[in-house]
Order: sequence, then structure tokens, then C-alpha cells
Amino acid sequence: MLVLSSPSGAGKTTISRAMLERDDNLTMSISATTRPMRPGEEDGKDYYFVDEDKFNQMIKDGELLEHANVFENFYGTPRKPVEEALARGMDILFDIDWQGTQKIADDEIAGKDLVSVFILPPNTAELENRLRTRAQDPEEVVQQRMSKASDEMSHYREYNYVIVNDEIEASVQQVQTILATERMHIERQIGLHEFVQELRGPE
Ligand code: 5GP
Repeated sequence: MLVLSSPSGAGKTTISRAMLERDDNLTMSISATTRPMRPGEEDGKDYYFVDEDKFNQMIKDGELLEHANVFENFYGTPRKPVEEALARGMDILFDIDWQGTQKIADDEIAGKDLVSVFILPPNTAELENRLRTRAQDPEEVVQQRMSKASDEMSHYREYNYVIVNDEIEASVQQVQTILATERMHIERQIGLHEFVQELRGPE
């Protein structure tokens, strides 16, 4: 379970897309949210867009692996697709905030499967620039996100890795390197013991 978090506008979405294109063993977790759909977004692709009643029902029914209130809206990770993807041997990419990351990290079982990466913008001007060129949100939302970016960034220490997204291609390669390295971790290599036993032959 590979989590990418960052303040809005640090380039996380672009990095996620590139990661998915380049890695057949990686699938994206699609979150549920109560926030309104933005132009160009698709229900079931970018998010599952639901109303608050439905969201609360999902919580009640234990359908969410984690959920949090971000910018006055609710966001949550549906549990079932994650469990199914993991059972198929897939790795899963999550675009969730620090609250969701903390909840998964604290989970006794899921926590062991988690690798978390925090993406920082190269500087404040670039962050603001990226938020403005997105130009899909009203000015007040942009301002709100700028002020929240600082709060969000204060959580960088809670992550396993930090990337400064100066240049998108370099950042994608860095995330790929993290994924490749973490896949080699001794705890994650299923069947390793049997493989070594076979290599060693009969005692
Ligand atoms: P946006 O509304 O711009 O798509 O996302 C706003 C923030 O919500 C981003 O920081 C994103 O990572 C976070 N987010 C999206 N989905 C989830 C989720 O399922 N759980 C949590 N905790 N945060 C999420």
C-alpha cells in the first residue's frame, strides 16, 4: 500500500498518473467523497461522489478503511477494493491526506503493508502558481488551500519518505525507486523462505 500525500498543488496527481501508466502491478484506490465534482472529473474514476447520508452509511457499515474531513468535505477509502487488489497480489496507490495515512499506519494489520511518501513543492511561489493554473476552484478555495498547505506540510515527519517535486520526471523516478526497493523488503517477499529452501536443496 503506497500512499502519496502532499499539499494541494505539489504535483501529486501528475506523479500518481505516471506511476500507474508505468507499472502494471499498481492499481489506484478510488476514494469516496462528499465534495462536488469538478469539471472533467468522472464518478467512479476520480472519486465515488456520494452525499453525506450515503457517506455516513458507508462508515456505519464498516465499508471504509479510513475516512477524514478535509477542507470541510468528507473523504474515505473503500475497504473492499483494497482487500481484493491485495489478495490478487497487486500493489495499491493511495492519494490520501495525513489523517488517512495516520489511520492506516496505526492499523495493526494494514500498518505493516504501508509505505508512505510525502511530496513537497520546490518553493511557495511554485505552489501558489500550480494552485492558480489549475483554475478550477473559486478564489476563496484557492486561498483556503494555500493557508492549509502549511498545516498539511507540518506532517512530513510522519512519512517514511519525502520527495521535493522540482522536476516531475525525476520525482516519478524517485517514487518508482521507493516502490522497487520496498518490494524487495524481506517482509514483503511472499514464498521467499520456500524459494531459499529449494535453492539450498536437501540437508
Ligand atoms: P481533492 O478534493 O483536491 O481531490 O482532495 C483534497 C485532499 O483530500 C487531498 O489532500 C487528498 O489527498 C485527500 N483525500 C482524497 N481522498 C481521500 C481519502 O479517501 N481519505 C483521506 N483521508 N484523504 C483523502
